[in-house]
Amino acid sequence: MIPVRGYQGQKVAVLGLGRSGLAAAHALEEGGAIALCWDDGQEARDRAEGQALELCDLSKANVWEDISALIVSPGIPHLYPEPNPIIARALQAGVPVDNDIGLFFRSFATEDWDGFATMPKVVAITGSNGKSTTSALIHHILEEAGRPAQLAGNIGRGVLDIDPAHDGEVVVLELSSYQTELARALTPDVGIFTNLSPDHLDRHGGMGGYFAAKRRLFAEGGPDRAVIGVDENEGAYLAGQLSEGPADDRVIRVSVDRKLTGPGWQVFARKGFLSEYRKGRQVASIDLRNIRGLPGSHNHQNACCAYAACRTLNLAPRQIEAAFKSFKGLPHRSQFVGEKDGVSFVNDSKATNVDSARAALGAFKNIRWIAGGLGKEGGVESLKDALKGVSKAYLIGHSAREFSLQLGDLPYEICETMERAVHLAAQEAKAGDTVLLAPAAASFDQYPDFEKRGEDFTRIVQTCIG
Ligand code: ADP
Repeated sequence: MIPVRGYQGQKVAVLGLGRSGLAAAHALEEGGAIALCWDDGQEARDRAEGQALELCDLSKANVWEDISALIVSPGIPHLYPEPNPIIARALQAGVPVDNDIGLFFRSFATEDWDGFATMPKVVAITGSNGKSTTSALIHHILEEAGRPAQLAGNIGRGVLDIDPAHDGEVVVLELSSYQTELARALTPDVGIFTNLSPDHLDRHGGMGGYFAAKRRLFAEGGPDRAVIGVDENEGAYLAGQLSEGPADDRVIRVSVDRKLTGPGWQVFARKGFLSEYRKGRQVASIDLRNIRGLPGSHNHQNACCAYAACRTLNLAPRQIEAAFKSFKGLPHRSQFVGEKDGVSFVNDSKATNVDSARAALGAFKNIRWIAGGLGKEGGVESLKDALKGVSKAYLIGHSAREFSLQLGDLPYEICETMERAVHLAAQEAKAGDTVLLAPAAASFDQYPDFEKRGEDFTRIVQTCIG
């Protein structure tokens, strides 16, 4: 655990008692603060009480007088579409609102920090897609290279739950826009921005607010090194704004769209090859085409970001390449789950929106596509141009019918359930085909979450391929 500094003897309110809220409350107490905890749910409150935490009904007006800060969980809206009423009260009372990430950055460095031979470092990853994969990949590369590393944030352990830093350790921190927007301290050594596409716009008051939330990671006095995906206008703009000039190698530009040129530091992937250029010269090249854990151009983007971050930590290209080869990929993200008679089965249940589904569809050929669930606004209308590699769609869940009307000439079957979809797709598939679950929809109509949906797919595939 990282004890929270700066609140000794003071009262700090904690709203939201899930994983991060509970960890924050314990870490505050460990640092000598008095944590006053609240959650709208009785079950969460009971859990906190069971862990000897003090409850305090923060919805009461009179509690705010002597509270120093309010720590909130990422799921609770603090501004748009409307602030949660408890957060609104805190703001009216002039109480600063922060989150576990802000607490982490003000508390991570310890008194004996200067005695370390190699300073511990924090690598923070944000972006619309690829955060978890990039974070897990960096952590894997560091471990394979024998560097002490911890994985925290959305993936891995709660950020205040990790162990205090050791000499030379790297903390790899995955951050969502909700987290970067609110954290009052945000000072990683290396910041990564993978890409940007519209998501969670209701919580950020539109695309501008969403981008602003993400780029807080790179605010004034920000990271020593910034790894920026420049394939969208926002990334290109951010990279430009962070650079002193074209040769400034504190910024590493990443692309999977084109060859990047210029005197700076760049990492790009084209036709399945990753290249690193520095000062106009090629430094390294890695063939990504047969790396099973990183299929498709979207994963090549993740690989480029991870590669660039690891280069700033002084790893050699060959060390990184070796670790790419042993990376298994994350469950539910273009995850290879089995093969029979030349037919591969791939689970990308995490493709809950059209952008991530587009990425998965672009990574394979001869696809039998299992899609559907609780579709988002617009359904799969905008995926029409991404269906070239698809031979047939097998549609499930609430939005099956809506999706079927948006597929143009593509053959489809309304299967309703995962069971029917997998069986039918497996039955109709020929050698060389890939049966791909990439739903382009949320899972909540049929499953508690995307993980359960992916597990169900995997289970059925396993019975199917015996
Ligand atoms: P995040 O943590 O940002 O949600 P994940 O690594 O968990 O990202 O991947 C989420 C979804 O997006 C998966 O469906 C995955 O296949 C897809 N994906 C992964 N990396 C990228 C990328 N760089 N660009 C677009 N889509 C991606």
